[in-house]
Amino acid sequence: MTHPEFLWRNPDPKPAYDVVIVGGGGHGLATAYYLARNHGITNVAVLEKGWLAGGNVARNTTIIRSNYLWDESAAIYEHSLKLWEGLSAELDYDLQFSQRGVLNLAHNLGDVREGRRRVNANRLNGVDAEWLDADEVKKFCPIINVSGRARYPVMGATLQRRGGIAKHDHVAWALARKADAYGIDLIQGCEVTGFEITGSRVTAVETSRGRIAAGKVALASAGHTSVLAERAGIRLPLQSHPLQALVSELLEPLLDCVVMSNAVHVYVSQAHKGELVMGAGIDAYNSYGQRGGIHVIEAQMAAALELFPIFSRVRVLRTWAGIVDVSPDASPIIGRTPVDGFYINAGWGTGGFKATPGSGWVYAHTIAEGTPHPLAEPFALDRFTTGALIDEHGAAAVAH
Ligand SMILES: Cc1cc2nc3c(=O)[nH]c(=O)nc-3n(C[C@H](O)[C@H](O)[C@H](O)COP(=O)(O)OP(=O)(O)OC[C@H]3O[C@@H](n4cnc5c(N)ncnc54)[C@H](O)[C@@H]3O)c2cc1C
Repeated sequence: MTHPEFLWRNPDPKPAYDVVIVGGGGHGLATAYYLARNHGITNVAVLEKGWLAGGNVARNTTIIRSNYLWDESAAIYEHSLKLWEGLSAELDYDLQFSQRGVLNLAHNLGDVREGRRRVNANRLNGVDAEWLDADEVKKFCPIINVSGRARYPVMGATLQRRGGIAKHDHVAWALARKADAYGIDLIQGCEVTGFEITGSRVTAVETSRGRIAAGKVALASAGHTSVLAERAGIRLPLQSHPLQALVSELLEPLLDCVVMSNAVHVYVSQAHKGELVMGAGIDAYNSYGQRGGIHVIEAQMAAALELFPIFSRVRVLRTWAGIVDVSPDASPIIGRTPVDGFYINAGWGTGGFKATPGSGWVYAHTIAEGTPHPLAEPFALDRFTTGALIDEHGAAAVAH
């Protein structure tokens, strides 16, 4: 693979675009790419207030899976997983996508029932899923402590073998390079500060680099979506929280799968470079500061040590946080809004990295056609008034 000197140009904004995407994270870049690739729409700008891939796309723990409970979720996340399976080749960039298997541990009867039910639901939806008992868990991941004397003994686990991890910054850079090659303008250091709405239609965005006219405006701004939507007069049912993660010092290979536990509350994988990558739940308060409380990290470490006593002398190298946009049913919001030409893709909360290609695909379709992609339709904003919620708290509880 040969790289040009730069992966993308650094253009100045033009006065007008057919589509303006707000947010240069994974979802914004994937949407731009699929607008060009699938719909031939290239007069597009992605406006990013900071630098490309400085947000959650490069702050997440990169867990990829599709084993969600409800039909609507399984369909969209499985669509995404299938795209991941061909994405390195398609983007001509090694995304280090590694389908090493994701375990969701069960520590009590409630977990066991939920896990078994989800395995059955997944299989009915064509999503690969297995139930492992404690011995099988130990065989699959020998360093897990499955002792019956543990505070929360391991009673079994769901396993999705096709799940795994990828290298997040490569994902963003690869999508950016392809979008740029289609002629899409990726504009960094350009904060959207407001929207011009004429009648019921959005006609332009106001930015720190001036007014930019837009045929359509599409938010892909993750933790800042509710703030931006409010500037267009739309109130969204989203809460923004810090979500922290950490990495250890570099270690020899010792963990070749992804392990998640809702009950002790941690998820762990080992990145290609050798560091253990860990995360847990959100910090409970609302915030836009990309940092969090040390007590959350302490709880996450305690959980990790309970599952993996072998980590007891490993040192933490670095911790950080991203701001995640959490919806009331732990499912995303994708689609049109009451303002014509103004679209949202948000609410992916703690688990949207895995959806990056699938989300971009359905969002691009929704923007291009002006009607929701069939996979996106159930995730419309109006479900919070119709009551047709897609409650994924069980599958998304510990995040991811
Ligand atoms: C610690 C952590 C761990 C996670 N782990 C996982 C995981 O293991 N698996 C998983 O599937 N998901 C995970 N997630 C969730 C996942 O990262 C997000 O759901 C997903 O990245 C959100 O989409 P994005 O990549 O487009 O967001 P971002 O990369 O945050 O992109 C949004 C962009 O919008 C920009 N922006 C905001 N306001 C403006 C404005 N006014 N003008 C211009 N630009 C603006 C921001 O600067 C940002 O770059 C995790 C998140 C965090 C924080």
